[in-house]
Parts: sequence; structure tokens; C-alpha cells
Amino acid sequence: MEQSPFARQPALITGAASGIGRACALHLAAKGAPVVINHLPHEQATVEAMVADIEQAGGRALGVVADVSNEEQVTEMFAKAVAAFGTVYILVNNAGIQKDAEFAEMSVADWQRVLDVNLTGQFLCARAAAREFRRRGVKPEISPAAGKIICMSSVHQVIPWAGHANYAATKGGIHMLMATLAQELAPARIRVNAVLPGAIRTPINRPAWDTSEALNDLLRLIPYGRIGEPEDIAKAVGWLASDDSDYVNGANLAVDGGMLLYPGFAGHG
Ligand code: NAD
Repeated sequence: MEQSPFARQPALITGAASGIGRACALHLAAKGAPVVINHLPHEQATVEAMVADIEQAGGRALGVVADVSNEEQVTEMFAKAVAAFGTVYILVNNAGIQKDAEFAEMSVADWQRVLDVNLTGQFLCARAAAREFRRRGVKPEISPAAGKIICMSSVHQVIPWAGHANYAATKGGIHMLMATLAQELAPARIRVNAVLPGAIRTPINRPAWDTSEALNDLLRLIPYGRIGEPEDIAKAVGWLASDDSDYVNGANLAVDGGMLLYPGFAGHG
């Protein structure tokens, strides 16, 4: 059987025990990539089960505990990834949190923690990945790129979101971090792109979909008429991580059922 093009392109996915990150890890593993499943300590059992499932299906997986906002832990995580799989080719910069509050009531601690995880976390992991991609360089027999970074942003890098000033600010920040890295790292053959999920059914936004009333409200914002599933995002990530998208750099790929299309104007505004 022909070897998968992903077989020699290990992928590291942050926040990969739940929701979108989990779907990305399982999707890339199913495509043949060795996967590093980053997670927090309380997610150990979930990740052990994921690793066992992937290995049983003939894949390779490694769980690594690290807080993406911690420089030392990120450095150690990449060292473990390289020790296990030789290198890293794909980073899915996915870990993210919300700590919502009406703006006037938002604490500095909640502002700062969301910036630390969502934005500094993406900076630290992208920097570690870029260092590894440059160290290894391009191996044309494996991939035309030295590496690929996929930043998990959100439609809220574009759409303002009352009650979520910290979260929206991080997604706006990810937009310019992604674009700047895409420009700066392209000569080293490192591609950097963003996926902008719309409303995806995961634990981060459970109140928005777990009652039929909330779901109906949400669907008014989605022209395509359904909530997104984590696999919708994973398939887009799989394409951006693959060499089929080799000429795509600095792109913002909305995977949102049309949420960015000003649905309020659908009936002529
Ligand atoms: P989720 O809560 O299901 O998963 C987030 C994961 O990140 C969890 O496993 C969590 O433990 C992990 N995590 C949190 N802090 C971490 C840290 N400091 N270090 C390492 N891991 C950490 O949420 P999700 O919906 O899968 O969100 C994943 C990404 O997608 C986030 O960046 C989020 O902003 C983005 N996103 C989600 C939606 C949506 O509708 N679900 C929409 C747009 C963007």
C-alpha cells in the first residue's frame, strides 16, 4: 500500500483532548500523521483513551501535558514531540478559553488569563514550531514546506462580541499574528494560515446549543441552517495541513455556515 503523505509529517495539536482540537487530532491521525495530543493534567484519562484508539487503528500518538501559556512547558512539549517522532511538521494552534463578563465588570485576572492562553499560547507554540521547522529545513521528499502552522481563530476576529471583550481581542490579535508570521516565515517555506470557526458544538459554548430555544436563536445567525460539528473544522485543518494547499499562505478560512455573511441583511436588511 502507498504510504500516506502525512506518515512522515508529525502534527502537534494544542488543547486536543476536547472539541475541535480532539477532532483535529483524530482526523490527522486517521490520515496517517503521528500526532502529539497536548492537554491539561485533568484530561489525562481522556487522552490515554484517544492514544489507545489511535494505536489500535495502526496510528501513532503521544499525549503531552503542557499549559500553552507557559514558555518552559511549551519548550519541553516540543522537545518531547521531537524525541518521540523525530520532528514536527504541523502545528494546530488550537487551545483556547473564554472567561466572559460584561465589560465594566471584567476583572484584570480574567482579561489577562484569556490573553495568556489564547494569544501568548499561540505565540509560544508558533515560535517553538518555527524554530523546529528551521532547524530541520525543507525535505522535498517529505513535503515542499518546512512546516505548516494553523491558527485556530474565530469569526470573532471579525465580528465584535458583547460580553466577550477579552476573547474577541485575542482573536483579533491572532489575525495579525498569523498574517505577520505568514509574511515573515514564507521565505523559510513555512506556511501559516487561520481557520475561523463559526458556532461549533463543543463544551466551550454549551449554553448556546444545549436547549432547543438557545439553538433556534443561534440558527438565526447561520445562513446554512445548522450548527457546525468539530469534524467540519478538522477537515478544513486537514486540508491546510496537507501539501494540497501548498500555495495557500496567510489565508483566513471561515468554516462557519455563512455566519460572516451579515445574516441580518438576508431579508434585504
Ligand atoms: P473546548 O473547551 O472543547 O476545548 C478547548 C481545549 O483547550 C480543552 O481541552 C482545554 O483543556 C484546552 N486548554 C485550555 N487551556 C489550555 C492551556 N492553557 N493549555 C493547553 N490546553 C488548554 O473548546 P473548543 O470549542 O474545541 O475550542 C477550541 C478552539 O476553537 C479555541 O481556540 C476556540 O476559541 C476556538 N473556537 C471555537 C468555536 C466554537 O464554536 N466551539 C468557535 C470559534 C473558535
